Amino acid sequence: MPSHRPKLDMTKLQPATQLVHGGIHRSQFGETSEALFLTQGYAYPDMETAEARMKGAEAGYVYSRYSNPTVDMFQERMALLEGAEAARATSSGMAAVTTALLAQLRAGDHVVAARAMFGACLYVVEELLPRFGVPSTLVDGADLSQWRAAMRPKTKLLFLETPTNPCLEVYDIAAIAEIAHKNGARLVIDNVFATPIFQKPLKLGADCVVYSATKHIDGHGRCLGGIILGGRDLIENEIHNFYKQIGTCLSPFNAWVFLKSLDTLALRVRHQAKSAEQIAGFLGSHRHIVKVRYPFRPGHPQVELAKKQMLGGGTLVSFEVRGGKKAAFAFGNELSIITIANNLGDAKSLITHPATTTHQRLTPEARAALGVTDGLVRLSVGLEDASDLIADLDSALSVLDRQGVAAE
Ligand SMILES: *Cc1c(COP(=O)(O)O)cnc(C)c1O
Repeated sequence: MPSHRPKLDMTKLQPATQLVHGGIHRSQFGETSEALFLTQGYAYPDMETAEARMKGAEAGYVYSRYSNPTVDMFQERMALLEGAEAARATSSGMAAVTTALLAQLRAGDHVVAARAMFGACLYVVEELLPRFGVPSTLVDGADLSQWRAAMRPKTKLLFLETPTNPCLEVYDIAAIAEIAHKNGARLVIDNVFATPIFQKPLKLGADCVVYSATKHIDGHGRCLGGIILGGRDLIENEIHNFYKQIGTCLSPFNAWVFLKSLDTLALRVRHQAKSAEQIAGFLGSHRHIVKVRYPFRPGHPQVELAKKQMLGGGTLVSFEVRGGKKAAFAFGNELSIITIANNLGDAKSLITHPATTTHQRLTPEARAALGVTDGLVRLSVGLEDASDLIADLDSALSVLDRQGVAAE
């Protein structure tokens, strides 16, 4: 529908506005809410058009494994928010990671990645890539000299997440991007824990950003999804040609759910981060807590770097309960609002014990190297009132008095 209203330059708007209005393509009906095009394919007006579209001589949709109008709206809105030229949405966060890495690598290339990484990402880097002739080196992400030392002539990609799971370490994106570029390599960032609201890796020098949309982007624990963002050439040629053939595309239904969630993303994560900071403060002085990790908390080893490269400390808090696994379990079992689940970024606050869940396959030595102790728990702060969450934590921790797990 032609409109006579002034055209907006979406890139000039604030994130909260982009998240509501960005990337909308209205159909001939002029619907206010984004339309759900739940279709696999597209009908052509004639045979000539089918031929031209398939050839790429004429613009237009061909098949939803390649592109779909609802998925396009999600991609455009996310690209706007991220400050990326283009994006491709995927069926899960791991589909985004695997597609982004495999599309850019060839046998003989080499990858350097930070050791502290989401478990499935570690599998891809440590086990899958070497099977196809791409060796990898794992480093301590906070130690820039290790990144430098790991570089080889064939190093093609550097990969990391920051803040990390579950210990919330913060790595220097700008410095690591410089190491990558000096060696003719690219830097890929898994930005899930930071969220697109609090950290902009592309502005810091990264070449490619990936998300699990399953987390804060959905934000209500419903759909799996992911997205890859970066420069136009990388996304529309290198990534797209691979993506459209291997079938890691996102369902239009899930894209539609994510579009509705993006309306509230900034509101949600800012509220959650504010609560997370309050909760970190409460836990920091609690008699049953040994150590609290939150990127914006004084005493965090990289707090200065975190405040330089992030606009908020994020929605996760990790802490160590005094008394190891027994105390952590006793405490977790007493929580009544906070739910035991290994997901994150949900409206509901979720708690997990990494040593026995997400990191149970690692050897005790490997867990220790990552700081995953037996008393460590990871809390994903939801949208509940912070005072109710603090009361829930306080009452559950008080069980440790009764159980005689001595507070030192
Ligand atoms: C959840 C997560 C992933 C994987 O996403 P899925 O949607 O579960 O496939 C990758 N990286 C990080 C940091 C995550 O938290």
